[in-house]
Amino acid sequence: MPNNNNYLALTARWVLPIDGAPIENGVVVVKGREISSVCTRDEFNATGLKITKDYGQAIITPGLINLHTHLDYSDLALFDTQSGFFKWISNLMANAWKWGDDQWKQSALNGACAIAQSGTTLIVDSSFTGQAANAAAQVGLRAIVGLEVFGIEEETSQAVWQSWLQKYHNFMTASPNELKSAIDAGFITMTVAPHTPYTVCPSLWQHAKSWADSQGLPVLVHISESQQECEWIHTGNAELEAFLVNMPKSGSEANYSWRGKGLSPVEHLDSWGLLSSNTLAAHAVHLSDKDIELLKKAQVAIAHCPRSNSRLRNGVARLLKMVESGLHVGFGTDSSASVDDLNVLNEARFAWNLHRAVNPAFSLSAKEAIEALTIIAAQAVGLSDKVGTLTPGKEADIAVFAVDGVYRPETAPYDLLLYGGTSAIDVFVGGKAIVENKKVTAMAHQVPV
Ligand SMILES: [Zn+2]
Repeated sequence: MPNNNNYLALTARWVLPIDGAPIENGVVVVKGREISSVCTRDEFNATGLKITKDYGQAIITPGLINLHTHLDYSDLALFDTQSGFFKWISNLMANAWKWGDDQWKQSALNGACAIAQSGTTLIVDSSFTGQAANAAAQVGLRAIVGLEVFGIEEETSQAVWQSWLQKYHNFMTASPNELKSAIDAGFITMTVAPHTPYTVCPSLWQHAKSWADSQGLPVLVHISESQQECEWIHTGNAELEAFLVNMPKSGSEANYSWRGKGLSPVEHLDSWGLLSSNTLAAHAVHLSDKDIELLKKAQVAIAHCPRSNSRLRNGVARLLKMVESGLHVGFGTDSSASVDDLNVLNEARFAWNLHRAVNPAFSLSAKEAIEALTIIAAQAVGLSDKVGTLTPGKEADIAVFAVDGVYRPETAPYDLLLYGGTSAIDVFVGGKAIVENKKVTAMAHQVPV
């Protein structure tokens, strides 16, 4: 990227600042890590500065935000496209948990590259190994990575929590300089990910929540993903019971006295005081009106993952109701093991088509989809003062999309981005190009992507 003048001035047919109307023939000027101005080409020309890159018929947007990933599992694409949810998880564990360190590392790196190449600049990742954080640092992504914790027995929750703290400490101590620098520079945040209400008992969840709250960190969770989960928490479910018995580190003698109280997963978590504005809940498929009220009251944010929900036969989330209730709802792709690709723009397109198909009254527009991919997702993780719009003073997280499909000049730019067959050409995080001409810059001399 030519940068002889210590600034970047990027121009294209469309600039979508998100905090204002689309700018036709717009310019985004970047100095250092920050956006310094967003204006029309005419306004820019009056400054006497020179354009550093003209993308022509392209769209410049804030970098997209993917609110739910598991980069660790990126090499498990297509491993089981047929099974329902719990058979699929068992197969996933059987495949991945025998991997060595190098395979986890490479898998996460492959996922990080694919994420960057899709025009995404920020991911929120639940990671079994922590390798997602290393991969994000290597590629230059901004990331919030939660180290997963599992444990359904109240009796052992203290010991399980201590062992998670040790795992976290060991991971941070052993992390490569690349990750340490990314954490110090504010690009990567490490936190905790209590897996689900059926794999984490209330006292263990409380340990995780208290630890995260004390540091102002998000808590990354899955809630109400499957009907089986809802039934198991409410009364019982044989399929889930069988799954738990076979799960490593869980004994068949376990006494799950905290469930079976006739509550939904959301009511269950609320009854223990485990929901808060720091909670980011992935999936949230099976929600009652009361669940949605409770989530709204606690200001829980939602990662909507319709392609994974569909592949794993888990149902269709009540997106419109959640949005109309005022919840912050962004999109998550979930992992390669349950979705066709890690492109969150494709997730949004699928979502809009799906919800229109099942509910002809679905009223959300392409503009609202792009907002959910940017500013609303930034709000969901408390980063809207830094990213999510092209606003002077914010971090220069930027994606440039070429329009590969049929180009109709009169098409509104939000529709063009969502439906127009677009692909990311250049991607910037904090003013640094992490993708140039569709290639991951950090990988240029390493592995082909
Ligand atoms: Zn997940």
